[in-house]
Amino acid sequence: MTRTEATAVAGRPPLAPAFAFPVIDRFLHARPSAVVGLRRETKTVVSLEVERPAGFRYRAGHYAMLRLETEEGPDMRPLSIASAPDDGSLEFATRVGPSAFKRALVALQPGAAVKVSRPMGSFHFERSRPAVIVTGGIGITPLRSMLRDAAATGHDQPIRLLYGNRSVDEIAYRHELEQLAGSDPLLQITWALSDPAGFAPAIGDAHVGRIDERLLRRQLEELPDAVFYLTGPAAMVTEVRTVLRDLRLPPRRLRMSTQTLPIDRKSRSH
Ligand SMILES: Cc1cc2nc3c(=O)[nH]c(=O)nc-3n(C[C@H](O)[C@H](O)[C@H](O)COP(=O)(O)OP(=O)(O)OC[C@H]3O[C@@H](n4cnc5c(N)ncnc54)[C@H](O)[C@@H]3O)c2cc1C
Repeated sequence: MTRTEATAVAGRPPLAPAFAFPVIDRFLHARPSAVVGLRRETKTVVSLEVERPAGFRYRAGHYAMLRLETEEGPDMRPLSIASAPDDGSLEFATRVGPSAFKRALVALQPGAAVKVSRPMGSFHFERSRPAVIVTGGIGITPLRSMLRDAAATGHDQPIRLLYGNRSVDEIAYRHELEQLAGSDPLLQITWALSDPAGFAPAIGDAHVGRIDERLLRRQLEELPDAVFYLTGPAAMVTEVRTVLRDLRLPPRRLRMSTQTLPIDRKSRSH
């Protein structure tokens, strides 16, 4: 198979030729780190724990470039930091896939060398306002960081998490999210599942189907001053953003991560 054929089935070629990586590393302040371990969160999502480089400081919602050696040479991807700033190590979570990068990631063994760039991005939580978090699938990663951080450092505003997935076995961090909500009366979770078969949530409400206009309208009515945080698959982000616009949510009260922005880059909120 030629490289072109391989690319079509197995993801992008490396971001840059190998000889350019020392320069990219310097530009991104990429620092060496070692793998602590990999954990399977769902059938299709794995989390990766790595040592926190000395002096690595970040805010919940930041992302970093994770640099790995793949069978096609060095490569990197931006990944949201899923751990909270007070956690001892750094955690990322990703959907597994056929690209050389993802194959290298799932094959990492404890002690393996990786590199982590400086933290980047401006998708952060506004503590002083009620929050409605709307996400789906792997879009949970920066929000898991924010929720862990809010639990660790305390907050006094209501937080609603609307988390959409196809089925119960695709919910990443389910038990941890249940624990967080179980010990925090200000945090409420709605699990939106297209296929709710076998789902009996210990904590939170179940919503059958997608995160729709009715569900979003209710949040706006109950928390009229809330800031909305939106991440997830591009199609979902586009749909939810359109509904919120139609419901007259002021644009300044919508925060979207660059993680999963739809095609329309001009409307990026940060
Ligand atoms: C700020 C930010 C934060 C992010 N955080 C996360 C995170 O926490 N977790 C996470 O999983 N992802 C995250 N992402 C996305 C991540 O960086 C990767 O893009 C994503 O995981 C896919 O990587 P991949 O190696 O599987 O696919 P890639 O090789 O990067 O391919 C990306 C997409 O393009 C398609 N594609 C690739 N090559 C071709 C081709 N030749 N022709 C047509 N289509 C092609 C692939 O099918 C795939 O859908 C984030 C992105 C950003 C910008």
